[in-house]
Amino acid sequence: MIAIVVHGGAGRWDETERDGAVAGVRCAAAAGWQVLESGGGALDAVTAAVIALEDDPLFNAGTGSVLNAEGDAELDAGIMAGDTLAAGGVACVRRVRNPVLVARRVMEATDCVLLAGAEAVRFARDQGFADYDPVTGRRRARWRAARARQAGERLVPGTVGAVALDGNGRLAAATSTGGRELKRPGRVGDSPVPGAGNYATAQAAVSATGWGEFMLRMAAAKTIATRIESGESPQSAAAAVLEDMERIFGAPIGVICLDARGAVGIVHGTEGMPHAWRSGGDDDFKARFAT
Ligand code: ASP
Repeated sequence: MIAIVVHGGAGRWDETERDGAVAGVRCAAAAGWQVLESGGGALDAVTAAVIALEDDPLFNAGTGSVLNAEGDAELDAGIMAGDTLAAGGVACVRRVRNPVLVARRVMEATDCVLLAGAEAVRFARDQGFADYDPVTGRRRARWRAARARQAGERLVPGTVGAVALDGNGRLAAATSTGGRELKRPGRVGDSPVPGAGNYATAQAAVSATGWGEFMLRMAAAKTIATRIESGESPQSAAAAVLEDMERIFGAPIGVICLDARGAVGIVHGTEGMPHAWRSGGDDDFKARFAT
């Protein structure tokens, strides 16, 4: 049994971008599936899927990330292997193309779980990650518009993520984001923090999207994983935590998750969350804007 699920963020999507976002998540799921199908591991599958989403300028991760209050892109990403509980993350990194790859390098080449800010960038450069400007003209124009109406609602959050189960029964999760538009410089969200926006164990893998400050306070991804480990289905575990988040904080979130048998959970409390998945004997990918 192999399985992959990806999401492109529980943000507010412009009508004109929804089809592109669905095509993007399908493509990312296919990249992850290809790894699994050829006998690759869950970690490589989630890495491949998240790279595809980071490189697609439509999504708020890597190229095309949203900008902070000062107009800079500060990126967060996290990755976790369920079988070993190995985890790595970067927070507030600037000028890298694929934060998920730097997060993975933190996991594999250091004795740290999280590196942040300028020192994380220095680590990336030492590891051979080139200087890269992830800011697109479209995002810069939106930032100007968002800043002009700053007192109002903050638009265009979102994040990308993937969970996978490989042929050896191993689960993994990866999540990457530009965070919240107009965020305070230095702000770190839930995505790179194990247990908040990203988590994997031997029995569950979870990637979440939504308002990071609330997910950090609820350990949202870990809570979902613990419910799955107690025998709850991924769908029901994710729905229960989504409900708690709405009740306690009024914060709608989005979640994708998997258990070790390839059962899939996909929920979102927002109007949409582009997502795609394929599991076991499915003969094709399913890709949707909303569940
Ligand atoms: N979770 C992300 C953050 O707070 C944003 C999002 O997914 O909407 O950084």
